[in-house]
Amino acid sequence: MRKIAMLTSGGDAPGMNACIRAIVLTSLRYGIEVFGYRHGYNGLLEQEYLGLRAKSVANIIQRGGTILHSARCLTFKSDDSAKIAAKNLDALGIEALLVIGGDGSFRGAKHLSNHWSGQVIGLPGTIDNDIYGTDATIGYYTAIETALESIDKVRDTADAFERIFLIEVMGRHAGFIGLNAAIASAADQVMVPELSRSCEDELENIINHIEAVKKRRGNASYIVVITENLWPDGVTKLAEVLTQKTKVECRPVILGHVQRGGSPVSQDRVLATKLGAFAVESALKGESGVMVSEVNQQLKCQPLELSWQQQKELDPYLVKIQQDLFDFIKRP
Ligand code: ADP
Repeated sequence: MRKIAMLTSGGDAPGMNACIRAIVLTSLRYGIEVFGYRHGYNGLLEQEYLGLRAKSVANIIQRGGTILHSARCLTFKSDDSAKIAAKNLDALGIEALLVIGGDGSFRGAKHLSNHWSGQVIGLPGTIDNDIYGTDATIGYYTAIETALESIDKVRDTADAFERIFLIEVMGRHAGFIGLNAAIASAADQVMVPELSRSCEDELENIINHIEAVKKRRGNASYIVVITENLWPDGVTKLAEVLTQKTKVECRPVILGHVQRGGSPVSQDRVLATKLGAFAVESALKGESGVMVSEVNQQLKCQPLELSWQQQKELDPYLVKIQQDLFDFIKRP
């Protein structure tokens, strides 16, 4: 193999730069020339790329974001786009394309492989951790850490004012960040899609719990961690309803995009480095149409389709702990 290319696509995640670095250095070690397409799949369509050397990736491991920039590219779903991308890759003599992104980006990679004879390999990079077949995704650990720091700070003011705070975290349609940040911050309640009930049940549940907490601890702060997109009218509306029903002031805090940024924590840098190196070595072995992953410290390749056909589950023991702690306070 003489030439490899990569791109970062979809939502950016801390650790993508560490992954780019690992791909570049591993490729160079094997004597492979390496290129980076800019702005996700847009770069493939525009033939916008950079030749990458060891110097290009010096001093980036600690930086959030991605030096290649990321983007969404809605037109990439068409066959014509995939054909243009294939032509551009062939014109540059690329034999393998590595795609760092989420399951949307992997669908794009699969789509490309229907029109291109080169190898495609996906690397799971998303803060949401919602990709089946890998213990964690690049960026996930940093996102929990960022959410946690914010929740700890909100708790200080919640305690001072004896208020209820609803803290909305990212996760798209998965509760990995929510559940883990809730456990780590000792939140009183967590609302994540995997455990969600009807709005009426959910409301009744929280209100009863707030009452029980008041009885046990007196007028104390109360923290709810909730995943984005969960409450139909949004967390601001939910906060209004709770204020009305409990007569305790309830404030929403939407953490938003701060969770995507920041310097990656060590677990993300290490995971990104492992997966980056492994992706290049897998390409050398002829793998294609696969995602590289780590499960129980074993590096693996699995078909790209599994990442969207199968659903990754929350850790059931963590769910049980959260539930047990939640129920405990309600005991007389
Ligand atoms: P993520 O990779 O973080 O899940 P998106 O779902 O936004 O992010 O997908 C990123 C990009 O991947 C899209 O903007 C598009 O270019 C490409 N993509 C997503 N789904 C498909 C698809 N079904 N066919 C082709 N390309 C796709």
